[in-house]
Amino acid sequence: MVRLSVLGTLSLPSAGPIQLLQRDYGQGGNLVSIIAGIHGDEYLGLYVVYRLIQWLESIEQSAYQLTGRIRIVGCANPLGALIGERFWPSDFTDINRIFPGYQAGEASQRLAHWIFGALKPSLLTMDLHNGVAMNELLHVRSYSRASWLQRGMIKMGLPVIWYQSFQEPSTRYLEVPGTVEGTLQYCLHQHGIENIVLCGGPDLDIKQGIRLFRALLRLLFHIEILHGPPLEESEPQAESRQVKTITPVLSRRAGLFLAHSTLGESVKKGSYLGETVDVQSGQVLDQTFSPVDGVLLSLRKQPMIGEGMLLARIA
Ligand SMILES: [Zn+2]
Repeated sequence: MVRLSVLGTLSLPSAGPIQLLQRDYGQGGNLVSIIAGIHGDEYLGLYVVYRLIQWLESIEQSAYQLTGRIRIVGCANPLGALIGERFWPSDFTDINRIFPGYQAGEASQRLAHWIFGALKPSLLTMDLHNGVAMNELLHVRSYSRASWLQRGMIKMGLPVIWYQSFQEPSTRYLEVPGTVEGTLQYCLHQHGIENIVLCGGPDLDIKQGIRLFRALLRLLFHIEILHGPPLEESEPQAESRQVKTITPVLSRRAGLFLAHSTLGESVKKGSYLGETVDVQSGQVLDQTFSPVDGVLLSLRKQPMIGEGMLLARIA
């Protein structure tokens, strides 16, 4: 049975207050937390959380049992989600750059503080995100070197596993912060709390959402929070591609980017990825080729680009 708690209450100047809620399932044992919607314009994670809650609500009538606790913070930036805005709308702050937050701060700081407080007792946290300007192949990423978690990530059966490193050169692309400080991922890591980030999208694709939901259940099985018969698989699991480095491909010219490649495609060094054109003059300004062999993990969706913007990422 669910236990609902209020993590915090935000007053609004001319309307009723907003409450940030946490849902807890199971009793005793280790705690695993799942959070979605820190960025208000990312909806795929909200769908995954919906599926998980629906599943947990009926677990007592199923063949499955929880032997640990699952905590869900399902829509961490509710005002942002309402208007499709990445940041907290009243102060335009990226909540995912101000962790651990503080109680005496502005609304966004307080939200970060409450979220961090809720996740801090966890053995493991899972943070759901999705691309917005970029199409993303489903992937899981983590700075963790814990072998139990790395084995669990393999069990998830997602197309790509990215073992991140703090030594990676500074990257200032969407979903790959230039400064890792202030992100939930970094803050949890600094406090010794194992965590993973799950990413896909940007569309609220139900197939992708179900795949993420099932990946999440497989990880819960692996870490023995969840027990019961193995999940039925509708299709055979492909092996995940495990990578330590991701190569970004940046635009050299401003214009309209026309992708001539497909997300998830295997590319070779020199493979043609697309072209940047000038809509006003009808000229082709630049052609883009892959700098390495790999798989297209991310590919630009929002096609109007400036110089130095992310066109693709190769795993
Ligand atoms: Zn995000």
